[in-house]
Amino acid sequence: MKSMGIEQKEGDIAPKDVKEEPPSLRLEQNRRRFFPEIPDELWNDWKWQFKNRITDIERLSRFFFNFPQKDLMELRAVTSRYPMAITPYYFCLINFDDPHDPIAKQAIPSLEEITLSKWGKEDPLAESRDSVVPGLVHRYPDRVLMVVTDVCPMLCRHCTRKREWHKGFWIRPRSEIEQMLEYIRKNPHIRDVVISGGDPLTLSNSRLEEIISKLREIPHVEIIRIGTRVPVVMPQRIDDELCDILSKYGPIWINVQFNHPNEVTSEAARACEKILRAGVPLNNQTVLLRGINDSVEIQKKLSHDLLKIRVRPYYLFHADEVEGTEHFRTSIDAGIGIIEGLRGHTSGLGVPVFVVDLPEGGGKVPVQPQYVLSRNENEVIFRNYQWRVFRVRNPKGNSEGMGQSLEVLKRFESEFKARQG
Ligand code: SF4
Repeated sequence: MKSMGIEQKEGDIAPKDVKEEPPSLRLEQNRRRFFPEIPDELWNDWKWQFKNRITDIERLSRFFFNFPQKDLMELRAVTSRYPMAITPYYFCLINFDDPHDPIAKQAIPSLEEITLSKWGKEDPLAESRDSVVPGLVHRYPDRVLMVVTDVCPMLCRHCTRKREWHKGFWIRPRSEIEQMLEYIRKNPHIRDVVISGGDPLTLSNSRLEEIISKLREIPHVEIIRIGTRVPVVMPQRIDDELCDILSKYGPIWINVQFNHPNEVTSEAARACEKILRAGVPLNNQTVLLRGINDSVEIQKKLSHDLLKIRVRPYYLFHADEVEGTEHFRTSIDAGIGIIEGLRGHTSGLGVPVFVVDLPEGGGKVPVQPQYVLSRNENEVIFRNYQWRVFRVRNPKGNSEGMGQSLEVLKRFESEFKARQG
């Protein structure tokens, strides 16, 4: 969106600077402004939030004062290819005085989704190729990914699985879930199952329990992980019944995706608290997004705000090369620079691992600023976060880890020489 002229009456004086308000206060003000007739019982009911998502441009335009006709036509063209869905809750987090609002950028379509679509691929991580049965991706030896639906409360404009939106919105039928379970039953080395989507928490509690309880019956499945953005975009979904299920079939871990401090509201904090009380640890996987969170300052605030609500900053993802998301992608150096600005400047607990998910199913690799300046058999020379240099004596020994490290170094050296020569 280029213009954000929100329902101001003519004659209103627009603020000169973007107002910095706590996100929950802004949420409350916007709710009173746009949804004044909605009582708390409905607002706090996730089914109401889901049913009342903003999904068409005409409805979206009515929230704005003088929505330009040109924008209307352009955004219609975008949504005919990449649909839109925004929960009233998430919509109310937008700061309409800020033309570069990070919430709006994640939720409201923009023309670049189609004008830059020659860049990127539909399925850059080759998930379809690595699916062993429909929706079950088996890439790493001991873990699998179950994609159980492509429905999400909000359609994030930067989504890696945007390709699925063309197919309409679906929940995987029981027969296909059974095929996935059967594959897992037959492969005893699978100890970790990630349930993702779309957003698996859009399933009903009973459907979710059906899947989780069957996974829990498989003796070699040690942990179940759920990937969800529900606490961020529709925290009302975290109800007591869901928490009872999570608690009953543990150990379960949940990965969430907070991308900006403005998403860390009291409502989101309450949802996270309920999940934690059910005995489920929460890790955050931020996507690094140009113009949204690509600065040290924002990432540091996000980490601090998350730690306060006991959500651990886990990964910072370099944005995948997905068709229709080029305008969000930063350089890899931007991610390294952010880690450089965090490491040592805040506690290690607040420093996520910066990761690039390699194309064609190469898997995730961590990327770090370089702290080892040189090394030999006897010592390693480091620099710290202040660029002070330190020598560390390298004791001789023959632990297994050292053997592996030397093995890797030798292999790398010989492969490198072979290529040179
Ligand atoms: S919640 Fe995840 S899967 Fe759903 S639209 Fe957002 S990024 Fe994509």
